[in-house]
Amino acid sequence: MTTDLSAYAAEHGIRYFMISYTDLFGGQRAKLVPAQAIADMQKNGAGFAGFATWLDLTPAHPDLFALPDPAAVMRLPWKPDVAWVAADCVMEDKPVGQAPRVALKRLVAEAAAEGLRVKTGVEAEFFLVTPDGGKISDEYDTAEKPCYDQQAVMRRFDVIAEISDGMLELGWQPYQSDHEDANGQFEMNWEYDDALATADKHSFFKFMAKSIAEKHGLRATFMPKPFKGLTGNGCHCHISVWGNDGTTNVFADETMPFGLSQKGRHFLGGIMKHASALAAITNPTVNSYKRINAPRTVSGATWAPNSVTWTGNNRTHMVRVPGPGRFELRLPDGAVNPYLLQAVIIAAGLDGIRTEADPGPHRDIDMYRDGHTITDAPKLPLNLLDALREYEKDDSLCAAMGRDFSTAYLTLKQQEWNTHCSQFTAWEHATTLDV
Ligand code: ADP
Ligand code: MG
Ligand code: MG
Ligand code: MG
Ligand code: MG
Repeated sequence: MTTDLSAYAAEHGIRYFMISYTDLFGGQRAKLVPAQAIADMQKNGAGFAGFATWLDLTPAHPDLFALPDPAAVMRLPWKPDVAWVAADCVMEDKPVGQAPRVALKRLVAEAAAEGLRVKTGVEAEFFLVTPDGGKISDEYDTAEKPCYDQQAVMRRFDVIAEISDGMLELGWQPYQSDHEDANGQFEMNWEYDDALATADKHSFFKFMAKSIAEKHGLRATFMPKPFKGLTGNGCHCHISVWGNDGTTNVFADETMPFGLSQKGRHFLGGIMKHASALAAITNPTVNSYKRINAPRTVSGATWAPNSVTWTGNNRTHMVRVPGPGRFELRLPDGAVNPYLLQAVIIAAGLDGIRTEADPGPHRDIDMYRDGHTITDAPKLPLNLLDALREYEKDDSLCAAMGRDFSTAYLTLKQQEWNTHCSQFTAWEHATTLDV
């Protein structure tokens, strides 16, 4: 593990570091620091005006410092003399509670204090589109069921393989890439890791996919539902919990239904209990709600959930238990903040363990066909405002995520909703003109 960035620069021929933090809207903010200046920056952090980014700070606040975490340094495979390093926000020597990586680290420490280590893997789907974002980049990618399309994935081989090579070089153990269920959509999978490491990799993956796509004259988008009628960008998260030494999966118990232990059931119970509220984090944009609760797509299924239900190996529910010792949360979308995704899963899951929450019955039906027969499971929020209200009402989740965080997040997201409501759309003009 890297501890000294200056030594890292000398060893790897790094000319510049990007000291990078992620704000509440998932924006990655960075300063480029020459290797000659990195030793001081590692001690004191790089200075930022916090108000200029989405952290709910004012112009009057003192400087925000981004303190690089040398354990999270990654060399840019497409620009090898530059290294990215994830940073934690501090102000007047105190951690900034609403900064996403700070919030996640606090929850990871809480889990560790209870002898638990959360390990996760994410599936960050994306589209390759034209540089102006208007349409998918491959005009021949038109199949009604384009999932796993061999010809179409090969037409984008240069981009996909370059990203995959990058992951190999970074030691992430990528194991497969494919064309996904929408025209123009792809998914690349790498091995699961500790929640904080997964969040750093997830952030870097987005940066890398966008950068390499741009290099090839394209654009990568993780927007939840970029095209009406096509399957959206999910960001499923697979979750298991281990003992502090990282060698015993405490979610695994072959004698229990689906091989999920009592502890695993309680953790899942926490996710189920807080689902409608945590959607405000996992589905954080206005556009997110066009992916969940969506009408059937051209391919035949949205692959996104609409209700708070769980099951075994069946992809029509919010939670799927694909095999013993882990479960998959299918709710999050491509807009999710990588750090807040992990933080909210740990917050809800730990609450589930502490309160011995029951996940309720598993429903083994095809939700897309027979979902209407389930009348006792909550529907997921229908829009961002509903989700924000659910979050605000969920006092224990607000507290677990941190009061500073929850207040800042709700303030900024409410503003975003208000901005959305102030838009005048072509649809309302067309449908209301003749009333
Ligand atoms: P699917 O498309 O079937 O949902 P993928 O293969 O695309 O699955 O992604 C599965 C993800 O789950 C990968 O990141 C993988 O490393 C991760 N994973 C596998 N086992 C575990 C586990 N025990 N705990 C957490 N994540 C896991
Ligand atoms: Mg200046
Ligand atoms: Mg997958
Ligand atoms: Mg997928
Ligand atoms: Mg999945």
